This record gives sequence, structure tokens and C-alpha cells, in this order.
Amino acid sequence: MKAETDCFGRPISSPPDAWFDVVEGVSNDNNKTLNRTTKTSRCLNLGSYNYLGFGAADEYCTPRVIESLKRFSANTCATRVEGGTTELHSELEDVVANFVRKPAALVTGMGYVTNSAIFPVLISKGGLIISDSLNHNSIVNGARGSGATIRVFQHNTPSHLEKLLSELIADGQPRTHRPWKKIIVVVEGIYSMEGEICELPAIVSICKKYKAYVYLDEAHSIGAIGKTGRGVCELLGVDAADVDIMMGTFTKSFGSCGGYIAGSKELIQYLKHTCPAHLYATSISPPAAQQIIPAIKVILEEDGSTQGAKKLAQIRDNSNYFRSELQKMGFEVLGDEDSPVMPIMLYNPAKIPAFSRECLKHKLAVVVVAFPATPLLLARVRICISAAHTREDMVKALTVISEVGDLVGIKYFPAQIKTP
Ligand code: PMP
Repeated sequence: MKAETDCFGRPISSPPDAWFDVVEGVSNDNNKTLNRTTKTSRCLNLGSYNYLGFGAADEYCTPRVIESLKRFSANTCATRVEGGTTELHSELEDVVANFVRKPAALVTGMGYVTNSAIFPVLISKGGLIISDSLNHNSIVNGARGSGATIRVFQHNTPSHLEKLLSELIADGQPRTHRPWKKIIVVVEGIYSMEGEICELPAIVSICKKYKAYVYLDEAHSIGAIGKTGRGVCELLGVDAADVDIMMGTFTKSFGSCGGYIAGSKELIQYLKHTCPAHLYATSISPPAAQQIIPAIKVILEEDGSTQGAKKLAQIRDNSNYFRSELQKMGFEVLGDEDSPVMPIMLYNPAKIPAFSRECLKHKLAVVVVAFPATPLLLARVRICISAAHTREDMVKALTVISEVGDLVGIKYFPAQIKTP
């Protein structure tokens, strides 16, 4: 039989590898389990971004989403400026602005596009973007599309950011007397492939000193960390007013889809007249918008329950427990305390299929990440912990991961393994 090929004549592997597996459905228990097409049905899901466990079973959000579907249908089939703005869109923008403590917000239909479409209207030739070396692909593409000069600083290293800035401009020069029309420093709240929390206080103070704007992507941190879920500013005590442009997505902690930009009223007004994601793309679907509004109410306990604080305590405790248990087992685990993103290093790309398939055999669905999302020899398993995971789920998962780790040979720190 002739092998299937792509448009360049390269063979396509068949059957699909474990990480391209097709998901048949998610269960009703807040995305905690998946039904997959492999013989291993109903796996415990350790790969979902659903950090707070908002899912089909949510008693507060789901009925409201169904109601909005009946009222507005699945999509507006229009851009925001061509009849695609429902009252849900306006309400969502107010709710988001209030949640992230900025004067105004703009929501779009997709997180990726929020980043990739905004840079070309924020900055252009003659401007300077200084980007963390591990920023997400959507930021990289947005920055490239802007035509501005791009410099990259060492991942989450404020001292290197300062070195670059001091080389590129004279210290303390006012914005109008230096070689750049504008400087934007771009960072993420929690780095999606590293699980590290941004060194935001130091970055903000350097940006103040050098009069650069701060752009913060909170895709993985908003809703997931901070006393009331307000993200990295709240966690690290940074005043939201010191972050000029706050970007985030609704695809993680809020269990929905879409993205936002929050900032000054002037900035948002400007974006409403220039940002292609607002002017030329269909607006966020009403049911997706409706999922987010009550989700934020739950987080802030404006729904009349005490679920918000419980969810936030649960995600923090789960993350810290899971990370420390993995470390005790001898795995090399990246990321910071409180971060629900925890990569376990595999290094060797050849270990990827073995790890993933062995986990699947034990009904554990994990995401493995490799080149080009990471450098070639820094392949990893990326665990995402949710508030929906119980202690029992985690104990079961840790037992499987430990066995598979022995089999695949990735316990790189045997000294940490406790002998009875
Ligand atoms: N920014 C970051 C840091 C991300 O990790 C992602 C995707 N996970 C995005 C933006 C794009 O968001 P979305 O998947 O919601 O389009």
C-alpha cells in the first residue's frame, strides 16, 4: 500500500501518534477526564488549561451559557462594528476591566490573534520591542508583523533586560530625545512552557527607569494565581497601573475562548478604531462571552457562593503538592511555587512517544512538548494541574508517572528519592 504523503511528498506517519490522538469527548466532571479514541477510554486529563475546573458540570455558568445560546445563537456572524456587538460583549468588557483593575478593556474572538494583531497597531518602524526569549509564538509573530526593531532578553532575567536597555538608550532620556519612537517590553505572567512566574516587580521598575511601556500576557496567570485570581500583579504586589498593556485569554482559567487587551481608556479607544482583530474579525461568540462573565463572578464570589476562594486555594495546594511530590521522586521539574504549569524534563526527544503512550496505557493523558515549541534537546512533559483534580486523582497520577519515569529513565535527580 502506498504511504500517505504531504504536499511536499514527505510521508505522513500513520496511525497518529499518541499526542495527535483524537478526543471523542470530555466528561461531565469539569474536563477532568477525557474520552479518547484509543482503547484507553476515559483518561485522567493532566493536560487541560482548565485551571479552575469550569466545565459542563458547572451549576452557575452552564445554564447561563445555554440561555445565551438560545437568545443569541452560536455566533454573531459579524464583526464588532457590523452588528456583532451584543450586550454580552459590552458587559464582558466592563467585567474584564474591573477584574484586571484597568480603566477599560477590549475583547476579541481569539487569544492568539489578540497578540498577533495588536503589535502592528501599537508600534512600527522606528520603535523597539524588547521581548523575553521564551515569549509565546503569538507575541513573536505580532512583534515581527509590526516592523519595529526586536531585541530579545534572556528568559525572565531583569538584569539582562536592563543591560540591553542601557545599551540601546541613554539612561533617563525623555521619550522624545532618544533613537526610538517608542519602547515596549513584553513579558508573560506565567511562561507556558516553563511554568515560571514573571519577575514582574523588577521588570516594572526597570521599565519605569528607562521609560519603556510594559506589555504583560496573562494567558496562563489570569484567574489562576493571586489572592482573588487577578493574576501576577496581585500575587507579586505590583500595581496594575504600572503595567501599560494587559493581555490575556479566556481559554484557560475561565473555561471559554477569546482574548482581551486591557489598559487606559485612550488606548482601548484607539484599538477600537485600529485593531484588525476588532474591525475585521467576527466577534467572540455570545455563549463563549457568557461563560466568562459568570466565571469571573464565581472567582470573585459575586455569585453568592464561596466557591471562588475554594477554587483558588485548591489550584494552589494541588499545584504545590504535585510539584513537590514529583521533585521528591527525582524528576527535574521546572516552574515556580504556586504555578499550575509544571514541565517534567525528558530532554531526549526519543523518550516522548514512550512516555506519552505508557501514560495512556494507564489511563493518564499528558501533553508532551518538543521542537519547535521548545529547543530540540529540551523536550518535556507539560503537566497542567486543575482545581478539579482531587487528592485521589493526583496520588493515582503520581504513581503512574513514577513507574513510567523509571521505565523511560528520566529521574535525573536520584539523590532526592527518599528511601524507606
Ligand atoms: N499567549 C500565551 C502565553 C499562550 O500560552 C497562548 C496559548 N496557549 C496564547 C497567548 C494564545 O491563546 P489562545 O490559545 O487562547 O488563542
